[in-house]
Amino acid sequence: MSDFPKRLIDGYGAFLAERLPHEQSRYRQLAEQGQAPEIMVIGCCDSRCAPELIFDAGPGEIFVSRNIANLVPPYTPDAAQRSMSAALEFAVQALKVKHIVVLAHAQCGGIRAYAEEAKPLSPGDFIGNWMSIVEPAAKAVGPRGQRSFAEYVTALEQQSALTTLDNLMTFPCVKILVERGKLQLHAAYFGVATGDLSVYDPERKQFVRVAADAHARAFSEPRF
Ligand SMILES: [Zn+2]
Repeated sequence: MSDFPKRLIDGYGAFLAERLPHEQSRYRQLAEQGQAPEIMVIGCCDSRCAPELIFDAGPGEIFVSRNIANLVPPYTPDAAQRSMSAALEFAVQALKVKHIVVLAHAQCGGIRAYAEEAKPLSPGDFIGNWMSIVEPAAKAVGPRGQRSFAEYVTALEQQSALTTLDNLMTFPCVKILVERGKLQLHAAYFGVATGDLSVYDPERKQFVRVAADAHARAFSEPRF
C-alpha cells in the first residue's frame, strides 16, 4: 500500500472534495440504471490526450477506449483476444452508441515512431506489430517528398484517423448501423500544443477547426 502513488491518493482527495459532492446523485443514478453513453471515443494512450478532459465529460457521458495511436485493426473474426474489437462490440451492440469519434492528435509518439521506422523496442516488438496497422494510411499519404518531417507526421496522423474509420466499417455490426443511419463515425484531431480541435469534413475532404472563436477568446481574455 505504501508504494501506491501519492499523486493518485492526492488526486482522489481532490475528487472527493470537489467533484463527488456535485456528481454523487449522478453516480448513484448511473449505478442503479447502468451507463447509457451515446458517444464512444477511440483515443490514444498519450497522457496529454484524455478525452474526458478535452470534452469536459462527466461520469457516464462518453465510452472511451484508448490504445497506442488510436487505431482499430480491420475486422478479424478469430480466437485472438482482441481488446479493441470487444470494446467496439460492447459500445455498438450493448450500449448502442450513436457516434464513434476517432480522436487523433499532434505529436503522436506511435505515429512518429512509424514514420521514423523506429527499431523494435523488444524481441516481441508489440508496438511495431501494432503500428503496422498504419501501413495503409502511409500508402495513402504517399512518400514524404518535399514536406518537412513535421508536416509529413501531421498528414500521417490525420490520414491514420481516416483509415481507422474505414477499418471500423469492416465490422459488420458497425457497417449495418451506419448504413441505417443509426450510427455516425467521425474523425477529430487535437493539437496538443495549441489546444485547438479539428473535425474531418467529408464534403471538403479536410479537417476543419471547430469552436475557433471560443478558442481565440480563451487565449485573449485576461486570466487571473
Ligand atoms: Zn498518440
